[in-house]
Formats: sequence, C-alpha cells, structure tokens
Amino acid sequence: MIRTGIGYDIHKLKEGLPLFIGGINIKSLLGSVGHSDGDALIHAIADSLLGASGLGDIGKFFPSDDEKWRDAQSNIFLSEVKRMILQKGYQISNIDCTIIIQKPKLQKFVPDIRKNIAKILNLSEELLSIKATTTDNLGVIGKSKGWSVIAIATIYKNDEQSNN
Ligand code: ZN
Repeated sequence: MIRTGIGYDIHKLKEGLPLFIGGINIKSLLGSVGHSDGDALIHAIADSLLGASGLGDIGKFFPSDDEKWRDAQSNIFLSEVKRMILQKGYQISNIDCTIIIQKPKLQKFVPDIRKNIAKILNLSEELLSIKATTTDNLGVIGKSKGWSVIAIATIYKNDEQSNN
C-alpha cells in the first residue's frame, strides 16, 4: 500500500528573531515568527507525513494555543510524527520539499538542512529532497514579509502489515 500526503506552511518574518529551517539556525536579519520556533520546513514535512497516513494535521497534535509548545524546537514534532506513522506500520518512501523565501539565499545551507532532517527521520538522505526558490520579488514572500514551504511525502506499508 502506497500513500501520498501534502504539507504546506507559512510564517511571518520579523527582525530580531532567529530563523530555523529544518532545525538549522540560518544567519539572517529576519527571523520566523511562530508559537514554536517557527520552522515552516519541519511543520510542512510533518503535515505531509500526517496527511499521507491519514492521521490528521500538526495543529491537532501540537496546537499553537497550547503553552506546552511555546518556543518548542520543532524537531520534537517531527520525531513524534515519525513515531506515529511507524506505529501504523508505515515506512517513508521519499519526501520532496520546496522552501519559498526571498532571502537569504539557502543554497549553501541545504546540505546541512537535509542532513539534519534525515537524521531526525532516521531516513537516508537520498530519499529526502530539499529545494529552495524565491518568488522573484513578487508578493508578500518577495517582500520578505514571510516564507513558506510545500512538502510532499510518499509512505508505504507492506501487504502483511496492512491490516491496521
Ligand atoms: Zn508552522
């Protein structure tokens, strides 16, 4: 059984805050506004995995009005989502992500981001694709008011496990 899920997230950017992308602290004048650490990449990946497994969404498990998650490191969310899909008998086939941010340029950070996400998910880096793009200065993201991420995950379950 093969299933696919999509994840999308957007956060505001503001001066004086840290910018965590995939758990990596990116040097930037603008940081991500969020109840947790505002890591839209991790949030989108978590949602894509939850979507693929039919478990729900990140807001259901880690609500942003819960004080417990204030300033939480988002890798906790992703580890927990991984545990939940494993418990349902799923393995990750692959994940592909596009980060949409005007600046800073992410190219040099992508290898570290990829390595870190792969580590959190206990996944081979070959199965994880991280891409970055801008909006060519168009719209709110182009004006650096925010940044967003789209993620797609494919997961599978072997036939003999598919009774749950
Ligand atoms: Zn988020």
